[in-house]
Amino acid sequence: MPKALKTIIVAVAAASIAACQTVPGNGLSAERFYSQRADASGIPVVGSAKVPAQALEIAARVIDDMLSRRPDLGRWLALNGYRVAIMAESESTTDLPEQAHWTRPDRSDPRLTRCERKHYDERIGAMTDRQYWNARARGMAGPLTSGAAEDLLGLPSSRYYGETIFVHEFSHDILAAIRAVDPGLSKRIDESYARAVASGLWKNEYASTSVDEYWAEGTQFWFNSNKLAAFDGRRIVNDDDLALYDPSLASVLREVYGDRHRLAGDPFWMSPARAPPGPLPLNTAEVC
Ligand SMILES: [Zn+2]
Repeated sequence: MPKALKTIIVAVAAASIAACQTVPGNGLSAERFYSQRADASGIPVVGSAKVPAQALEIAARVIDDMLSRRPDLGRWLALNGYRVAIMAESESTTDLPEQAHWTRPDRSDPRLTRCERKHYDERIGAMTDRQYWNARARGMAGPLTSGAAEDLLGLPSSRYYGETIFVHEFSHDILAAIRAVDPGLSKRIDESYARAVASGLWKNEYASTSVDEYWAEGTQFWFNSNKLAAFDGRRIVNDDDLALYDPSLASVLREVYGDRHRLAGDPFWMSPARAPPGPLPLNTAEVC
């Protein structure tokens, strides 16, 4: 799927329905819906009975590794009630009890991507709330972060096959923790993004959408499980490509992740599926 359909940061209000509240949709309280639970650095990872247990385990290992150099960020997330819910392949975003009420974004929503805004009427205007969210997202960041079993297991049915979208989503949570506990680093990340935009780096790629997506896309390249990005033949797919292309981004990523470039259990680490089959494209930005 094009990068434009990657996920977005969740409005806190949408994810803050109390865990014990009964909601329409599946009609179950979150407490009863989630029958499986794992622990990741103090952050609960939950799933319904339909989710393969291995998907929860991989999510927990990925989180542990992402937080290994900065356990203080994990503590902040745990203290602030962050949880991770894994969806089964047969479940959708609005099947999660806390998200059953979600409505589609309106035309002025700042979370819309460049191409969504341009084609709002065809892409979003014609859909119901449920259709929109179920088509849009197989993973969302935020106080209730969601992930998809097929993504964590690297199954061919994953709409993001070739990249591990869970790494992208959880990195948004890490940035939220950085914002709260490390203002110096937070400022360096903002400055790095401003420099990148000013110098034309990541032009029209998803990473250029906002500082949040810049951080999340950079994180995926850092851990070698992102899809290829190409700019007039210049290709970024590995962590060393990233460090050469945007050394400033690599520098702030290193502050959080150290020298780790592989996450335990990451299904697309160094996968050939990160690049499309056939001749490598000169450019990868979505044309819309
Ligand atoms: Zn994102």
